[in-house]
Amino acid sequence: MSTYDTPVAGTTSTAVLEQIRRRSPDRRRRILFTGATIVTMDPALGVLDDADLLVEGDTIAAVGHGMDVAEAIVVDARHTILCPGFVDTHRHAWQAQLRRIMPDVDDLTGYVAATLAGYATVYRPQDMYVGTRLAALTAIDSGITCMLDFSHNSRSREHSDAAIQALLDTGIRGVHASMGPHFGDWDRQWPGDLTRLKKQYFSSSDQLLTLRLAALATNEIAGPALAYGTDLARIANDLGIGVSIDAVFGASSSQAVLDWQRDGLLGPDVTLIHSTGLTGHAWQAIGDTGTTVSLAPTSEAQIGLETAVPAIEEALAAGIRPGLSIDVEVALASDMFTQMRALHAIQRMRAVNAAYNTGRQPSRISTYDVLDFATLQGARTNGLHNVTGSLVAGKKADLLVIQAEDLNTMPLNDPVGTIVLGSDPRNITAVLIDGQPRKWNSHVLDVDLPTLRGHVHDSRDHVLKSTISSTSK
Ligand SMILES: [Zn+2]
Repeated sequence: MSTYDTPVAGTTSTAVLEQIRRRSPDRRRRILFTGATIVTMDPALGVLDDADLLVEGDTIAAVGHGMDVAEAIVVDARHTILCPGFVDTHRHAWQAQLRRIMPDVDDLTGYVAATLAGYATVYRPQDMYVGTRLAALTAIDSGITCMLDFSHNSRSREHSDAAIQALLDTGIRGVHASMGPHFGDWDRQWPGDLTRLKKQYFSSSDQLLTLRLAALATNEIAGPALAYGTDLARIANDLGIGVSIDAVFGASSSQAVLDWQRDGLLGPDVTLIHSTGLTGHAWQAIGDTGTTVSLAPTSEAQIGLETAVPAIEEALAAGIRPGLSIDVEVALASDMFTQMRALHAIQRMRAVNAAYNTGRQPSRISTYDVLDFATLQGARTNGLHNVTGSLVAGKKADLLVIQAEDLNTMPLNDPVGTIVLGSDPRNITAVLIDGQPRKWNSHVLDVDLPTLRGHVHDSRDHVLKSTISSTSK
């Protein structure tokens, strides 16, 4: 006889979904997941076997064993792992209809020329909408419940509106990080329009979407208007929003980091993206100020940003536990599993390689570390540490149900190892964001795929055709 008891077919059944949705307007609506392996990512709680998790309204009400809860919709979660939703700390979502258009791009210059100086310049508001929505839906499908959209093609107010509306329409926990475009004609409404955006879309402190200011590290790519400094820092400060800074690498960014430190412009509300090839002094400044860091492991290694080596050793040495990010789908994979595995392999390779034939004992990151970066540290990096990133009472219910007895995950021997090294989006059968089911029975909800496909193709075709005709003028 096997000790394995067959999971109930109704783990994430349609009948349960209907019950949840029927009762969802009720803020006290309760969902009780029972019998799961719960990877809380909370340092105190750890991993719980055969445990229960109670969602009440949009919030995690309790995590523990043998709960007896009145009036709850029960989800039999045996043979699954419950895990916090992944947090993407930087993606240029508007580009999703151009995904994998340059899978072997040579370098950053090639990417900038084709995308930011080319395709971006012909984007209409509806193209912003289509790309951003597609990216967000794909994120949800692959278990990313919180995504920072580094939206750096805000050519007009309408472009910003469209990008925000796309996040709203998917139900993702979105962070709209707004920046003007690098090249071409645009309305120059940014950064002034941030005041309107804040008022119109981000007035509540308890809502799914948050706003950040996005900027570049230096004037090297697109001139001084987009470069972070005292002017942009004042705007962010006046609005009470965080700042995410892209293209942080090399000698010029190292100098910029020291200048920001001198001017008091660093801190926990500021995120430095990539951070490859920075000097020791720059890392010291980042560590001393508690500035957050977003690594995009495949972006750095595959496109080749500065040293091309993800700066995980440097970040940890400076006392920074980074968040992870996807960056550009035009050349890279869309999901967080890829980022966790790439970083896990790269850091361990670096550590062992540096110690090879020296007798030194390399310090290596673990699967738990990269899962921490992909969840709790990502939430901290996005300024949402108290909201999401771990499964503890009081946080919003952003969680994944991962099948632990599928063909590629059975048998469950180590839950964290199974998530990081063994799982992929197909094993995520359910995704809750803010207590609402967004993926159920392995399908992203509320998506009409044929209609979406039509919009994506139309937008992609428009962008390609218009780019060709505008560059041949
Ligand atoms: Zn980027």
